[in-house]
Parts: sequence; structure tokens; C-alpha cells
Amino acid sequence: MTVSRAPTLLSALFALSFSSATAQVNPSPRPAYWQQGVRYEINARLDESRFELAGTEMIEYVNNSPDTLSTFSLHLYLNAFRPGSRWSDADSVERKRRFNDLKDPDYAYNHVRNVRIMGETVEPIYPFAPDSTIVRFELPRPLPPGGSTQVGMEWDARPSTLPRRQGRRGRAYDFAQWYPKVVVYDKHGWEEHPLYPGGEFYGEFATFLVDLDLPEDEVMGATGVPLCGDPGWERANRLANQPIEYQRDFYPKAPSCSSIPTVAKPAAGRKRLVWYAEDVHHFAMSMNPDYRYEGGHWGDVAIHVLYQPGDTSAWGGGVAVQRTAKALEWLDGVFGKFAWPQISNVHRIEGGGTEFPMMIHDGSADQGLIVHELGHNYLMGILANNEWREGWLDEGFTSYQTTLFDEANGHFGGAAGDEAFITGLDLDGQSEPASLQSEYYKDFTSYNISIYTRGEQFFHQLQYLVGDEAMHRILRTYYDRWKLKHVDEEAFRDVAEEVSGMDLSGFFAQGLHSTDLVDYSVGRATKRRLSGSADGRLGTTTPPNDSTSSGWSTRVEVVRKAPGRVPVEVWVIGQSDTAAARSIGLAEREWVTIETRSEPKEIRLDPRVATHDWDMMNNQKKFGFHPLGGRDYDLYLDTYFSTPVHREEGTIGFLPTVWYNDAGGITLGLRSRSDYFGRFEQNQFLVSGGTGWATDEDVLDLDEFVRLRNPVWLRSPGMTQTLDVFNVEGRYGAVLGIERTNRPHLSFGPERKVGLRLQWVVPDDARFLVPGEYEDVGTAELELSAGVSDRRGPWRLGLKGTAGGGLVYNSRGLANATGRNDLDPYFYRATLEGTADRSIAPRWRLGLRGYAGVSAGGDGETAKQRQIYASGADPLERITNPFLRSRGALLLRPDVYYHMAGGGNLRGYDPTVSMSALVAANLELERTVLDRNQKKLFKRVSLAAFGDAGHAIADEDDPITGRNIEFLADAGAGIRAEHRLGQTTFVTRVDFPLYTSRPDLAQDQHPGGDEFGFRWLFSFEAAW
Ligand SMILES: [Zn+2]
Repeated sequence: MTVSRAPTLLSALFALSFSSATAQVNPSPRPAYWQQGVRYEINARLDESRFELAGTEMIEYVNNSPDTLSTFSLHLYLNAFRPGSRWSDADSVERKRRFNDLKDPDYAYNHVRNVRIMGETVEPIYPFAPDSTIVRFELPRPLPPGGSTQVGMEWDARPSTLPRRQGRRGRAYDFAQWYPKVVVYDKHGWEEHPLYPGGEFYGEFATFLVDLDLPEDEVMGATGVPLCGDPGWERANRLANQPIEYQRDFYPKAPSCSSIPTVAKPAAGRKRLVWYAEDVHHFAMSMNPDYRYEGGHWGDVAIHVLYQPGDTSAWGGGVAVQRTAKALEWLDGVFGKFAWPQISNVHRIEGGGTEFPMMIHDGSADQGLIVHELGHNYLMGILANNEWREGWLDEGFTSYQTTLFDEANGHFGGAAGDEAFITGLDLDGQSEPASLQSEYYKDFTSYNISIYTRGEQFFHQLQYLVGDEAMHRILRTYYDRWKLKHVDEEAFRDVAEEVSGMDLSGFFAQGLHSTDLVDYSVGRATKRRLSGSADGRLGTTTPPNDSTSSGWSTRVEVVRKAPGRVPVEVWVIGQSDTAAARSIGLAEREWVTIETRSEPKEIRLDPRVATHDWDMMNNQKKFGFHPLGGRDYDLYLDTYFSTPVHREEGTIGFLPTVWYNDAGGITLGLRSRSDYFGRFEQNQFLVSGGTGWATDEDVLDLDEFVRLRNPVWLRSPGMTQTLDVFNVEGRYGAVLGIERTNRPHLSFGPERKVGLRLQWVVPDDARFLVPGEYEDVGTAELELSAGVSDRRGPWRLGLKGTAGGGLVYNSRGLANATGRNDLDPYFYRATLEGTADRSIAPRWRLGLRGYAGVSAGGDGETAKQRQIYASGADPLERITNPFLRSRGALLLRPDVYYHMAGGGNLRGYDPTVSMSALVAANLELERTVLDRNQKKLFKRVSLAAFGDAGHAIADEDDPITGRNIEFLADAGAGIRAEHRLGQTTFVTRVDFPLYTSRPDLAQDQHPGGDEFGFRWLFSFEAAW
């Protein structure tokens, strides 16, 4: 059921006062904010023969801090994109070889020489050597508070051919973080920090005068305004009617062109271009002789778009200009007026996007990308946080505003999907807090998820806590107060607390610095009819709707079952009205009283899933008797191939079933399967019975299969718990299994599984059993399993082993249960399987598998159903599949040759062939002949050659058939196709084992005793 989300109810909710969650805010005395004063004068010449920009740099530095400085530091960020850097090494640890493998002249660099401070030459110190992204100098004399100094140097810089937030390709150059850049000195001291793959930049607000000597034909965009010279826009302009806004006179304090000293007159074929900017903490550039230019504006902010040849339809015709204007309009509305004269949106070499002040380097003209990257001009550019220390404050915040933009434009669902994803990671124990410094994250993927997606969730939840209107005021106040300053969590929290009037310290602490789970449930609830006025005692109470008439009062106990503490919306849904209040959310048990006009029917906690409550199944209670415990489930007709997964409620699918076997004939049944959140309560119930139709045997038999998997109350990260209890087609028994999956890194590295399984199976009606598969004994077995899978270079590798033991028995006792005196009552069983596959050329794949299995009693053999099966899965592995279970089942019929992978995978052989010990090897060579990933029914088709070989360890006879088995091999060719139906991807496989070393044991007996012959088999799964 979906609760009606009428606007009146929602606005009533937002209007509720949360007095209970409000406390006195006690601001602590804090030092006044300050930031250093920096002015750059950069002269540089682009030498295209060396792909290098080189020249001089003069920095004027004013120490506005209360501290006396004894050192001075610069970022040389481009040195990250070369071998030996911390960036490159962090990549390599995650098995991504990028910049560590680049050779000269492909890698990037940024060198400084002849550095002079206070008129003296100083020696460079590289504190993170061999990384050289930070260089430090001892000051010749201490620089006191209020003091200023000049730093001069020669430098050169080259972007890398492998682009990453900078780069070059041919004559196109994306210059970012390209000059020796002053390290921020703030309340933490010098923010010296090497550049890592996770985490971005941090810079001092500064004035830039950038004087460039460039090839005449380069078309260029940059931070700031072109003060003197021609950036090439006129020549590249594609919107002839649109006057180009150079804004050369924008800055009153900018020097006049005639007053700027000429370093050297540009040579023939070259030009001089001077750029100027104030109040920016970085100066980015992009140049390409092939750039097309289009201009426009939003209000008095000029828009410059530079795009590449071939972009005419995606970027041109004003499209990118309009999208940039739309983004500016949106962002001005959210935060306040843009702080700078222009924004340049350029189509860079790399995909994706990176933000710089007054400039965004984008890989596409997608509206969402533009809103995101331009949003960073507000969050990161104008509100300048330290991007590696608190990445959530630029990336999480920006993702949040991008989602608000999507929702304002009618695109919903993104935030809910992200919420489910993050809560899922929390449940898997995979989460890290949003507030870690970038390089503290265990890997790049965790950094990315934590600061973007988890960071975004923090802002949505803050909006839920303070309400839409207060959130809007928080954003505008934060921007107004902190624009063109450095910000941090404290700055934002102070504004949020001041505007909302709430003490948010607990929320910030938990939301940013922990990954605590949240789970509230409805405890006890009572309702009573009111006569006269209402009494609200505990918690927040809605005002009585009409204090003179009678209504209903409902007391709800809100139980907190997890460490996360959030005020929870409590809804009481009456027959004709709904009332809501919020709990405080701190106590483990809290009573909330809510009044409704009509009789209460139902209670719901957090119906909008705003608190990240992981278990929504316990958030509901209905008065009176209800099947399914008064909980709402999404009931659906199961189509087998898809399972609807809901965050806010469980689902139950019903599937009528029909299959056939020789004993029961046509068998009809009904299956239900349930799910919550794609991971819990994955239960199945199946009732079926043979009708006796289409068979003469008429074994009428009512069967039941019950599976309980992953109950909510057994939640444990990485664990799967399964209990099967069954009485099906001549067998009964139970399986109890637990398995733990451990995956240290989501995007690389090994995945390990360990499991424990207790399996008990008793055959009790031989009329259902496939002859040659079961002996008349029950088996009980305990098995331990362990497996690991990983990628190593081009190889995908897997290793799995099982070891266990058990006993065999029947009504006559343990030993000699079937009268076989070589049957031992106790047995042990162990298997080992290794797989490896890789692509060996485009469209070619090689797959290898090795298998060893042993199953034997102490002195003799063990029962047939627990032996090692040569051809594929053993009988107990097939017990849950009605098409492969019983005699005459659809995939076991005479002349139907089906292969269910497993065991020795000697695919051409009779599925009943077994032995007590086997080693086997399998090989497949596959060539893709059709690849159309967007299609569903036939996504990929390939041809394969295969070979299987196995050898029984002991020379022996099959206990039931008496066949002697030693060496078995087959080889042939096959066809595979990949399909997708609903959420299910599966393979159809047809194999032709043209050679079979023991034709008497082949599944397909048509060619008789010939080793070579036309035999076939098929499967709905890969061979392994
Ligand atoms: Zn971003």
C-alpha cells in the first residue's frame, strides 16, 4: 500500500514545530576568520615542440594569519601525473596502471628553479619525496603577522597525454593546476598535501595576472577575463549575431595593457594574451586551434562555450550556452548571485567533468553535468572548502543540489535509489563515513561513494530535519556569509543551527562521522476515544483538530533498535484523516501521542523513508486482526524472471507451477516467494501434487518445499542463512546453510566465501527416483566450504573447496544399510575446483577448469547419491529443480540430453555415472560471433570448442550398474547464446561431443559403440 501523499498533509508536516528536538545553541568563542593575501604575476610561453609552458612567476604574499611563518610551500600538482608519484602508486595498489607506465614525453611535470624569497635564493625541500607535488622552502627571515613578501621563480610545466583533470592531445591543451601554486595556510597551518587519486584541490584566493606567448591560431578559454590580446573567439565564433562579451574593463583594479611590461615581443605566427582575475583560488585554461566559440550571458554574467569539431549538434547552435545559462539561473536561485564576471564551459579532452573557478572542463554538454560542474563554482569555487579534507562539502553538496535540480525538472527517483544503495552498503559493512580525509578511504571507490553519494544523503536528511523552507534559508545564508572565503563543516553547521534554531551537533556527528544504522519500530500502541479536549503528554502532539468535539487519541511506542538517532515521523492513519508528529528519536523507547478526528486504523513510522531506517518491515502496525501481521506487502504475479525489490515494504510473488514426472504425471503447484530490500526474507513456499494425468503410475502425493532465507532478525554483514525443509517426490529432508562473503574492496581484489552446511536427505519412495542415482539410505552430512575469486592481470580466477563427512542409514540401522557389505556407515567427502578464464584476442576467450573430488567410507564405499559425479551435478544438487529431479522429468526424459554443470563436468556422459574419486580437467575456447549488448533475447552468440578429460582414482565398478570406469574423455564443438529476460541473464548452450572415449557411458547413445559420432546435449547455464 502506498500512503496518500496529499500536499495538505505534507505541508502540515513541514509546518510542525520540532520543539522537542530544539535545544539552546551555545556558540563557543572562536577566533575571527582570516585568509592570506596572494597575487600572482605569471609570464609564460607555450613551446609546442616540447609540449611545455615555461616562464617566470612572481607571488606577492601577505600573512594575514595570527602566526609568524618560517616556511613557504607550493603545490606542483602536475608532478602527480608521472611515474613514482603518490598518485601513481595509489593507482598501482588498486591494480590501475596509469601514470606509472607513462614514458617521456607523455607524462606530466612541473619544475621550479631559481626560487627567490625576500630577495634571497632558497633551496627546495620535497617533504613527500619521491613525490614532488609539494615543495617547501625555509624563509630567510620569519614572516610576522601582517608582514608581506615576494616569491619569484622560473618554472616549466607539461600536461600528460593520458588526461586526468588536465591533459594534452595534439595541439589541444587542458591546463589545470599547471603553475607553482601557493599552499593554503589556514587555521590548521600549511595545508601541504600530496595529490592522490581520491581528493581534489585547495587554493588561496588570489589575484592573477597571466601573460602568455602563444601560437597565433590557438583559441583559448580561461579563468578571468582577457585583458589584452585576442583569445581567438571572433575567428571561431559560430553565433554571428551574438556580440562577444570580452569584459576587458570588468575589473577596475586591473592594470592597463600599456602598463604591463613586455617580456619579449611575440615572434611571427605568435600572439600575446594577458588574462586577469580576482578572488579566485585557481586559474585554469584550455586551448585548441580547432575550438568553436559560442557566447551568451545570464544577467550580467558572460557565458563562453568552446567546443570541438563534430560537436555541432551536441554543443552548437546555442545548446551548451542555453544549458549553462539555465544552470546559472538555477544556482543563483538556490544560493545567490554568481560572484564572478563570466563562466567558460569547454569540451575538454577527457570525459566526465572538472570544475575550476569561472571555468568548467566538461566531457559532454549534458545538462546534469553542467549543473553539477557549474554548481561547484558555488560549492568549492566561491564557498571554497578544502576538497581533500572535506570532500563531502563540495561533492556531496553539489550532488545534492544537482538532485534538487533534477526534481525541480520533474526527474524523481535518483535520491531514493541512492538511499537504498547506501543503506545496502551499511548493511554489508562496506561503508565508511563521509567525513574522512580523501586518502584515508580504503580505496578510490569507497572515497567516491562516501563523499558523493553518502555526502548527498547527509544533505537530504538535513532537509528532512529542518524542513524545506529552513533548508532554503540555510543555503542562502551560508552562501551570503561565506562567499569568497574558505569554509568547513563548522562554518556550515553554525549557519544551519542558527537558521533552523536547532542543535544539530548530534546529527552532524552521526551523519558525517559515523555509519551507524538506523532502525525504529512500532512497539505498543493504544487508542482511545476522546471526549472534550485533548491531552498531549509525551512527545510532540498535533494540535487538536476540534477541541470541543470528540476524536481519537493514539499512543504509539517508538522503539529504537539501532545506534542511529533521528527524529522519526509518526503517522496515525484514521478512517478519514491522518495526523502526524515527530518523535525525538533518542530514547530506546519513546511514547508519542497523536490525535485524529476519525478512528485510527494504522500506524506508520517514517513513511517517506527519510531517516535511512534499514528495516521498514517493522515500521507499521494495524489495529485489529490482519493476516501477514498487519504489514503491507506488494503482492504480485510472479513471472519467474524478475523479483520486484522494494525499500519500504516486502514483496510476495505467486507463481502457479506445472511440471511432469513419470510417477506423478502432470504435477500442479503454487509457489510463493518473498523479498525485502533485495536481501532479506527471501523465503519460498511451494505446494505441489501429482495429478496422475499423462501417466499410468498414479502416484498421488502432496509435496511441500519451504525455504527460509536471511530473516531480518539474523542480519549480519556478508552473511546468508538458509533453511530448506522439504518433502518432495519420494524424498524428504532439510538443509541448513550459512555462508559468509567477504569482499574487502568493491572494485578490485579478491572475494572470499566460507560456508557451513548441514544436509539431511532420505529417499522414501523409489517410484520417483531416477534408477542408478540413489541407494535406499538416508544421508546426513556436514560440509565446510571456502572459495576465493579474483582477477590477476587478464585472468579471472576462482578456487573453491569443500570438505565434510556424514553417515548413511536406513530403517535397519547404520551399517550394511542396503545389504552391501562394502558400504561403510560413515563417509567423508571433499572437492576442489579451480577455474581460470581470460580473453586471448578480441572476441576470443579461453576457459580452463580443474576438478578433484573424493567421497568414500572409512573402509569401503559410500552410498551412490554421495559419490563424485563425473558428468555434472550430483542428485542432491538437483533436488530443488523439478525439471531435473525425478524419473521422467522434462529435462531427464529419454532422448532429452541435458547438462547441469558440476562434478567432473565430463559433459558427454550419462548423468548417473559416479565414482568414489575423480580428477578432471575441462577446456573451452570460445569465439564471439554476434555481440549486441543492447538487445535482450540474443545479446551475445559464440561458437566454442571444448574438451573434457577425467580419471577415476581407483579402478572400480559402479555400485548400482556395475560398470567399470577408469578414463573418460570427450571433445567437440558447441554454440552459446546469452539472453536477458526481466532481471535474469542466462545462457543457452548446445554442445556436440563428437568424440567420446567410452561410448557405452555416453548420455546420447544413438551413435552406439562408436567413439566418434553425432551426439548432443544442451543446457541453460555455462559449462562452469
Ligand atoms: Zn563534483
